[in-house]
Amino acid sequence: MKQTNLKIVSDAQASGSARSARPVIEIKGVSKTYKTQDGEVPSLRPLDFDINEGEFLVVVGPSGCGKSTLLKLIAGLLPPSAGEIRVENRVVTSPHRDVGIVFQSALLLPWRRVLENVMMPVEVKGLPIEEYRRRALDLIKMVGLDGFERKYPWQLSGGMQQRAAICRALVHDPKIVLMDEPFGALDEIVRDHLNEQLLELWARTDKTICFVTHSIPEAVYLSTKIVVMSPRPGRVTDVIESTLPKERPLDIRETEEFLAIAHRVREGLRAGHSYDE
Ligand code: ADP
Ligand code: MG
Repeated sequence: MKQTNLKIVSDAQASGSARSARPVIEIKGVSKTYKTQDGEVPSLRPLDFDINEGEFLVVVGPSGCGKSTLLKLIAGLLPPSAGEIRVENRVVTSPHRDVGIVFQSALLLPWRRVLENVMMPVEVKGLPIEEYRRRALDLIKMVGLDGFERKYPWQLSGGMQQRAAICRALVHDPKIVLMDEPFGALDEIVRDHLNEQLLELWARTDKTICFVTHSIPEAVYLSTKIVVMSPRPGRVTDVIESTLPKERPLDIRETEEFLAIAHRVREGLRAGHSYDE
């Protein structure tokens, strides 16, 4: 990743283990039941956990367990059926600008060039264009998309589109980034590369990340903490504090420590399965 003049590491992160344990997202007894024409669909059983400042929290669970629902609740795009979510000590009741979101598909506007797509949140939020344009260009450079600012989304590969979507999520400098299986549709080699790049980006900014995936290796590789969920209606079956060092070359995935965490995640996923469904 290239050097840019983006605001980089916070003091708390620079001191590594001394990172503060201040919760920026608090999930208290949160459940969600969708009301549909065919009746009620319970999608999350009461969840309780905090996400601390600067943490890279990964929620891992099978498809349909409520991961996307959880992110929508944190973003204020959906109301919980019970319980309360606090972001920066404020109860979430509507969409708020403390978060940036990256979805599974990049959702770039096809008629806008890369830079214009990245600048979308700045325009929508009415922020000063010139100031944020510099930030957008820095981000684009940081994820290795420099030279592509004036390309249209269809001129980019899937991995490049997702990197543009990450820039768009970060452009207004949110404290929190919510990522919903952002690399799920990409091939494994590209995914590996983007996982590595994302860790670097996280290490160099002061973001708190909540990332959801159904991939065990991805969860273990990225996380400082893992929340393991059961199938729908999702509940937490395990919370694992990662013991892996902050520096993570891809081959860390072959170490015993990595495999031990992966094993524990697998056990948590298995514990959540009720085979009578
Ligand atoms: P995940 O992201 O883990 O795959 P989701 O949060 O998308 O899970 O969905 C959780 C459950 O809630 C699923 O079983 C899904 O069928 C149901 N669900 C999601 N969105 C809706 C909706 N808008 N209306 C009704 N049911 C929904
Ligand atoms: Mg989902």
